[in-house]
Amino acid sequence: MSEPSFAALVSRWYERNARDLPWREPGVGAWAILVSEIMLQQTPVVRVLPAWRAWLDRWPTPAALAEDTPAEAIRMWGRLGYPRRAVRLRDCAAAIVERHGGEVPDRLDQLLALPGVGTYTARAVAAFAFGQRHPVVDTNVRRVVCRAIAGEPDAGPATRPADLVATEELLPAEPAAAALASAAFMELGAMICTARSPRCAMCPAESVCAWRASGQEAPTGPTRRPQRYAGTDRQVRGLLLAVLREATGPVPHQRLDQVWHDGVQRARALAGLVTDGLVEPAGEDSFRLVGDGPPMIPLP
Ligand code: SF4
Repeated sequence: MSEPSFAALVSRWYERNARDLPWREPGVGAWAILVSEIMLQQTPVVRVLPAWRAWLDRWPTPAALAEDTPAEAIRMWGRLGYPRRAVRLRDCAAAIVERHGGEVPDRLDQLLALPGVGTYTARAVAAFAFGQRHPVVDTNVRRVVCRAIAGEPDAGPATRPADLVATEELLPAEPAAAALASAAFMELGAMICTARSPRCAMCPAESVCAWRASGQEAPTGPTRRPQRYAGTDRQVRGLLLAVLREATGPVPHQRLDQVWHDGVQRARALAGLVTDGLVEPAGEDSFRLVGDGPPMIPLP
């Protein structure tokens, strides 16, 4: 009898050990899964959990979100970070209503054509919401595949087509089993085969892992410094957005001037928010979240 495949070993482990996350529960719809995937891209699970629930309580369908303003999407996004995702998610909801009658499409090409939905998200929704066979490749999966199959400790720069091919080759032929394996690879990368301290002794794929077989040492300590936040334009943008989120109308420039001492940096951060479509001028010397009120009449 042949040895179980990498996918079979990891899938079996996943069925017994997967974290109990609400977007994985049976019956969760494609819209809820799409929202979870967008939120999880740059935000840890623990912070996404309450935000995901609140978002779906308020906007249980794409149509509900599409009817609301981008400003409300930014308000609900709160402090999840990278708030352009909120505006893109609302644009995505509007496109789903316009092009697909309010139902998240199940075809990969249609998912890929939605605003804010890239290579990873489209395949994740197709696999996890519709049970299709697609390689779902995030940073964790790239690392797992690179170690287990190529025997290299780290995946290096993303090479999207090659990553997709390498992962697809590992998937079982049957679509539901392939979707399960995709979820399992992600979970293995998040919980066991982590970047700096892989727990090979606890890994379900230890017996078939090329990196483990090579006898190479586990990577130790972080190779990248954590990103600085204090004092960056990102922090200033966050402070400005916090004021605008709380406001019920246009916010005068003088009020925004109070959030940060450095005028040059403050102006740069505000200009960045306008360029990114999160904030717009609201009359003379005032600003507001984008779409937060009737269109402005240009000054003569
Ligand atoms: S044996 Fe170690 S390196 Fe290989 S997949 Fe498992 S955790 Fe990762």
